[in-house]
This record gives sequence, structure tokens and C-alpha cells, in this order.
Amino acid sequence: ILTEGVAVPELAEMLAVSETEIIKNLFINRGIQANITQTLELETARLVAEDLGVQVETPEEKSAATKTEMLDTEDLDHLQFRPPVITIMGHVDHGKTSLLDSIRKTKVAAGEAGGITQRTGAYHVDVEHEGETRQVVFLDTPGHEAFTSMRARGAKVTDIAVLVVAADDGVQPQTQEAISHAKAAGVPIVVAINKMDKEGAQPDRVKQELTEHELVPEEWGGNTPMVGVSAITGENLDELLEMIILVAELEELSANPDRLAKGTVIEANLDRARGPVATLLVQNGTLHVGDVIVAGPCFGKIRAMIDDRGQKVEAASPSFAVEILGLGEVPRAGDEFAVYADEKQARAIASERTAEMRSSRLQRAASSRRVTLSNVSEQAQEGELKELNLIIKADVQGSVEAIQSSLSQLPQSEVQIRVLYAAPGEVTETDVDLAAASGAVIIGFNTTLASNAKAAADREGVDVREYDIIYKLLDEIQGAMEGLLDPEE
Ligand code: GDP
Repeated sequence: ILTEGVAVPELAEMLAVSETEIIKNLFINRGIQANITQTLELETARLVAEDLGVQVETPEEKSAATKTEMLDTEDLDHLQFRPPVITIMGHVDHGKTSLLDSIRKTKVAAGEAGGITQRTGAYHVDVEHEGETRQVVFLDTPGHEAFTSMRARGAKVTDIAVLVVAADDGVQPQTQEAISHAKAAGVPIVVAINKMDKEGAQPDRVKQELTEHELVPEEWGGNTPMVGVSAITGENLDELLEMIILVAELEELSANPDRLAKGTVIEANLDRARGPVATLLVQNGTLHVGDVIVAGPCFGKIRAMIDDRGQKVEAASPSFAVEILGLGEVPRAGDEFAVYADEKQARAIASERTAEMRSSRLQRAASSRRVTLSNVSEQAQEGELKELNLIIKADVQGSVEAIQSSLSQLPQSEVQIRVLYAAPGEVTETDVDLAAASGAVIIGFNTTLASNAKAAADREGVDVREYDIIYKLLDEIQGAMEGLLDPEE
């Protein structure tokens, strides 16, 4: 994949040929006299590479390739336009959350059922464009952590990144990170220069700084749309949405609505009353109530679907997100889902995946003697334990991530924390099996123990700790590692 010009030695290395070979090729095939220190333009480098039998992709081509990943060849005759899916990224406090809220409030009529209080992980707004109503779908997970962790699991859900930069603060470290993440994913960027209502707003300075990161505004001859907005006054939000629509048109986003649905789990948790609840982003096909579905390793039959406005719906078309009920277990954010015509086949696929996960988890886990929080430090001092293995189960994905990131900040000079498995949901017998096999302690946060899990934990002598306050959890783990935990506990 090439992003810009490339020097002759660099290209030689990429293509695993000598520099002379490249210079020779340029001269003989193209009549270009190049020297070894020269930087070749992308197009020239591409021609040389292709002469030498190597395929070159630019990030745009790469993204086109990934965008169609959810499409099969038989879809190609049925493609229809689908709305763009947007992630909002940017530095902390630059107004990501405010911007999402503000767009949502102005665009979603307050009187609608569920209104603006419903949180489903994604929501859509209607935008008038050239006399037509178009939709834009926003993932309600501001911050590039969400973007990156989904991507790390292979999920590609974002079509366009909206980069929020505060007009009074300019480009900051997380702005730069967000730019790199979006570029790496080949996702086009629309810049929202926010807080234009503030006295210290300096939009031109922001544009200047962005130019240093190769984001050049259209009015300066570049191709990155930039809109000055205010999440507080609502200024220019329509222009921002308009820009998003224009960029989406260039992207030619499409899907085949006339097939069984597939897509990605964007959020999932265990609801005490309703059981496993997952928000699914449909990326191809149409999802229906009654569909037989496999999400990650979880099997289910969709009992009910609720859209982002809190309404019960019967179907969800491409790019729309719905909350579904009817899964047997809680999948993970980033898991792919697919609908199957054949229930038996779906069950078989789900149980095969469960078995795979279970055995790979068991393999990863080295067996050792029982570890409890109270004997961690003692075992460490005896030199028997260098790592504290943990299994984390929590109410929602957000808690799982918060716990993992807080744990990673604890001092770990004596004992290292190793998280074997972390997911939303209740503590199950499988978790206990894993803990028993790997000498791990189970941490349950705001969740419950499945009835058979309790019995298994007692039988196997697995330490299951339940918490509802994150500080208490961190205190105890730190205390355990330092040998300060009351042995009685
Ligand atoms: P996030 O961390 O990027 O999600 O930022 P927030 O949305 O939480 O906003 C951080 C702070 O900036 C809050 O105090 C907001 O009220 C304020 N803020 C956000 N957008 C604007 C804006 O357009 N104008 C002004 N004056 N303040 C804003």
C-alpha cells in the first residue's frame, strides 16, 4: 500500500529487487533517467511495481476493497445506495459528545417515543438534500478507542470519520492519533471545527495546523471538507451534515437489501429483565423479527427489535442499527453476525464456535495451583506466582473496558496482571472452568453468577469476587498484589 511518493531505495526494498533494477526499468520501459536519491511519484512507482509483477494499492483502493467485504458476488446485481455510518473522533473535551447530542436533539423530534433518552450505540438522523430525505447513521461511541478496538477485532463499521477540533485549542495529541487511525483504516475525514462561538476561536490557525497533517481544506486547494460549527449554539450543523452526505455520495456506499442480513455487533449487555440484548449494525441484507441468527459464538432467534428511537420495528435495512432480543448469550462488541435460513446449521455453527473459543481459552491457560486474591502475594513471595490471571465479567462492554484500562495502570513490579478473558455478561460455568484450569481469579462487576457457576466455583475452589464499585475492585486487587489484603477475606 502506498500513500505518497517513494524513494528509489525504499521501493527497491519493498519489491525485493536491487536499486539498479529499478533505475534500469525506469530508463528502458519509461525513458525516465532516475538517480538513486530520487523520490518517485506514486503513479511512476506503481508502474514500475506492476512491471515487476507487484500489485500496488492506494489507501482509497484499499478502503474500497474493505468496504465491499460484506458483499458477495451475487449481491452485485441488487446493489442499492445505503446511508453512511459515521464515527466522531477527536481530542478529549473538544466536544465530541456535545456535537453528537446537539445533532441528535435538533434532528430527532423530541416528542418521538423513546425520544432522545434512548441509548442504543447508534442512531440515525434525517437530512434534507436536494429535495430528498437522506439518512446519516452515527455510532454513539465517541472516541477513537471504540473505533480502534472494533478495528482490532477485524470489524469495519465506519464509512466516514468526523474529526472534531476545538477552534480555541487546535490540533492536540489525540487529534493526531485520530487522524492516523482514520488514515490507517482508509476512512475519509470530515473536519468539524467546533466551539466557533467562543471568543478565542481561531479557525484559520486550526486549518493551518491540520495542513501539517496533510488535511488541507478545500478552499486552500485540498480535498478535506472543514466546517466551523458550535455544538452549543447549533451553528452550521446542517452544513456539517450536508458535507457528510456529499462525501458519502463520492464513496458510493451500497448494499443488497434483498438478502439475509449480516453485519457487526456494536454493543451488547445482559439486561436483568430482558436477557442478552445486543445492538446490531446491519451492513448488508435486511434483518427481520423471527430471523435465526448467529452473533460471534451466540445463537438466537430474534424475538423483538427496537430502533434508536425506542420504537418496535419488524425490519432493519442496511446501515441501520437495532437492539435485538432473543440471543441465548451475550456476544462481544465487534463480533460479526449473520442470519441463516437453516436453524440446524446456525445452531451447529454457534456451537462449533463456542467449542473453539473454549478450547483456545483452555489452551491459553496454563494450569497451576488454586489462586485466590488472599494468597496472591504469599505465592508471589514464594516465587511461585509472577502473574495474576484474571477473568473479568461485567454488565456492559464499557465497564469491561474501563476495568481493563484501570487495571493496566496499577503498579505491577512484583506481580503482573494478565487478563485471560473479559466480556460483558454473567459469570458462567465456562468462566469457572477456565479459571480452574488457569489458576485465575474471576472478577464480576455489576453482574450475577449463573446458578451452576456458583456450584462449580465452590467445587473447583475458584475465587469469584463480586464488586459494584470500581475503586473497591482496584483497591482490593492492588492490596492483594502487595500482600495487604486481609487473609480472612
Ligand atoms: P468530548 O470530551 O470531546 O466528548 O467533549 P464534550 O462534548 O464533553 O465537551 C467538553 C466541554 O466543551 C463541555 O464543557 C462542553 O460544554 C464544551 N463544549 C462542547 N462544544 C462546545 C461549543 O461548541 N462551544 C462551547 N462554548 N463549548 C463547547
